[in-house]
Amino acid sequence: MFAVLPGCSQQAPRIDAHEMLNATLWAQSSAEYEAVTLQVYRLARDNLDQALADPHWSAALEQTGDTTGLPPAIMLDLDETVLDNTDYEARIIRRLGKYSRASFADWCREADAPAIPGAKEFLEYAAERNVAVFYYSARRENLRDCTTRNLRALQLPLAGETGLLLNDGTSKSEYRAMIARKYRILLLVGDNLHDFVDGARTDPSRRRELARRHADRWGREWIVLPNPMYGHWESAFYGFDYQLPREEQLRRKNLQLQE
Ligand SMILES: [Mg+2]
Repeated sequence: MFAVLPGCSQQAPRIDAHEMLNATLWAQSSAEYEAVTLQVYRLARDNLDQALADPHWSAALEQTGDTTGLPPAIMLDLDETVLDNTDYEARIIRRLGKYSRASFADWCREADAPAIPGAKEFLEYAAERNVAVFYYSARRENLRDCTTRNLRALQLPLAGETGLLLNDGTSKSEYRAMIARKYRILLLVGDNLHDFVDGARTDPSRRRELARRHADRWGREWIVLPNPMYGHWESAFYGFDYQLPREEQLRRKNLQLQE
């Protein structure tokens, strides 16, 4: 608890430390985060031009066979890639303590997430060039209506139901394979390793090894956004056991710090 300054009659509120505070403030309010996302989406736009000009360019490992006759598409994750969820993270820090599917669904139903800086301009650029836009997300089917409302409110390109691929048990890799049968996938954009490559739900060192194995793809056909708040990078430290009490998750993370 903060000390009450001499002369202050009012007691300051109790402030509990939360492990997401700095990361969330950084993503929500820093100039640097905004600069990074603008930079990322500008790179994506430049790479899209290159990809359109190169009939052999494909971003998906799941893409096989001759792609030269296929129409172009891009695939983007939603949360922390196109949609800014930091209001929900703030809610976790201030009131909820940790993520839950129910509180996340409540927040999604408000359909009020802003766009990540640079995303809208990039998506409009792609749509103007007749590149099909597919959003694929870990959000579940019960969030389809509110997610659609949110994307529509932001006036983002959305090709009806087929443009929004939600979690009905289909993995991200399976979705890439599905789209790759009909389109040449030019870019993958995401904030989590599984937005790019299968097998990413594993321990931190294997995840890094997987990222390194595909070193040539980053910043080219694979465009990654920073998410220091949450993601598999974080839950990998406690074996994706989301039922563990927060204190135990923190303890296991602390044990893996390297000094
Ligand atoms: Mg995401």
